[in-house]
Amino acid sequence: MSNLFQRAVIRLNNAIVRRRRVRAEPREVLILLPHCLHHESCPQNVVRNLDECRRCGKCSLADLVKARDDYGVLCCVVGGGRQALARLKQSDVKAVVAVACGKELVAGIWAAFPKPVMAVPNLTPEGPCRNTLADLGAVLAAVELFTGGAEMK
Ligand code: SF4
Repeated sequence: MSNLFQRAVIRLNNAIVRRRRVRAEPREVLILLPHCLHHESCPQNVVRNLDECRRCGKCSLADLVKARDDYGVLCCVVGGGRQALARLKQSDVKAVVAVACGKELVAGIWAAFPKPVMAVPNLTPEGPCRNTLADLGAVLAAVELFTGGAEMK
């Protein structure tokens, strides 16, 4: 699957999700994060528990944990696609904001259907799968799309 095709699928999916106007309580919105966002030098076990993040700012997780707390949404780091799918399929999740590479996002969008997934491609300044970064603005916009933007504490 080419990168161009992945980007087209993600854009189309996000446009469809926006038009569906899904509304959810913050506690029903899950931000799903890949473990490659976790800085490789960090000893904290954020896959087991995101609260282990010390918010040092070396990777995107510091801002994402703050966003989780500010908005009151669910958020977790997963080790792979199977774990991501298991979590997003749980009944407490009504809407998903997923950060990942294009390939994982496209697979997740199909697998999660009809659950709405706003897909946010990660940034890869050091190449794929290593110390990747999240587009915080895009993540927050997607959370606000689902929550109506009025729930921020
Ligand atoms: S922001 Fe959190 S997860 Fe990232 S390097 Fe710092 S302590 Fe580790």
